[in-house]
Amino acid sequence: MLNLRDLTVKELEEYFVSIGEKPFRAKQVFEWLNRGVDSFDEMSNIPKELRERLSDAEASDDITIGRINILRKQESRTDGTIKYLFQLRESIAVESVFMKYKYGNSICVSSQAGCRMGCAFCASTIGGLTRNLSAGEILMQVIGAERDTGEKISHVVIMGTGEPFDNYDNIVKFITLAHEPKGLGLSMRNITVSTCGLVPKIMEFARDLPQVNLAVSLHAPNDEVRSRIMPVNRTYNVARLISECKRYTEATHRRITFEYALIAGVNDAPSRADELADLLKGMLCHVNLIPLNEVSETGLAGSPKAQVQEFLARLESRGITATVRRELGSDIDAACGQLRLAHKKEN
Ligand code: SAH
Repeated sequence: MLNLRDLTVKELEEYFVSIGEKPFRAKQVFEWLNRGVDSFDEMSNIPKELRERLSDAEASDDITIGRINILRKQESRTDGTIKYLFQLRESIAVESVFMKYKYGNSICVSSQAGCRMGCAFCASTIGGLTRNLSAGEILMQVIGAERDTGEKISHVVIMGTGEPFDNYDNIVKFITLAHEPKGLGLSMRNITVSTCGLVPKIMEFARDLPQVNLAVSLHAPNDEVRSRIMPVNRTYNVARLISECKRYTEATHRRITFEYALIAGVNDAPSRADELADLLKGMLCHVNLIPLNEVSETGLAGSPKAQVQEFLARLESRGITATVRRELGSDIDAACGQLRLAHKKEN
């Protein structure tokens, strides 16, 4: 079945030509789809016969308009953060988080239903990978949140459930679609992809999307600690990851963000901060320290505040720029796959 949301304007043109319609319909339909309509009937500048034809094609499962429904929604009372559990076809549930910042509205989208990377601290990997999301399914999370809030979203981070580089082609397609001027028209520089470190994809990404921001989940300064909490490190170790990040920066001149979630007694010793500073010395980068969101199943705890501050101070004293991530929506369980996990357990 063809999901119309997966198609660029050019591909939609090909589709319309293939069914004997005028190619200019593609632009019109693309604009409607990006405005979030979920029936062909609403497309008022499309002739009635064509609307009916498209509805019939959908009824016989040739195409789909790619609906997304809100299964659950939690709204923070303190900062306007909204967490969505969206439902896609085949009853797939995915999580997205809408956040308000001074510079605009941002959304964190999921790239896969589930994840197979197995990080020890993460809720999204419990239960493994169900399937990849298509480009249109990722796009629908943005459109669904815009439709629900009535607000424009200017920034997208691909940091929800899933490993984007494990679903690489669909991520590239999603970004291409989101960037289309006739669609959401998002600036490449307002999009961020976060990876756990699938090394072979890093230079591909540099070539394909050099203006999109890259974040790398590091979480440890050496192989001993990193392999313990991130199985991906057993395939692509710290040395390979860091040397690839250096190549990335040489090619793109873009600053990488390294994410580092502080886990009590695992990676938060002051000596780890020193090791991290040595590892990243001279790189064009920024370290984002994340207070761990505790997921009860993992048995891991976040570092105490004082430890986080000490870690930050040590990095800074060694010339590494770092910040502690501001926690948004902490009153609504907003982080990291927890809504989806709760939903899975109930069903
Ligand atoms: N798979 C990608 C993107 C999704 S995870 C990646 O690994 O980067 C987005 C970020 O949240 C990653 O840095 C991830 O390591 C982090 N994360 C996962 N579980 C977390 C938790 N319980 N607390 C804090 N950060 C977490």
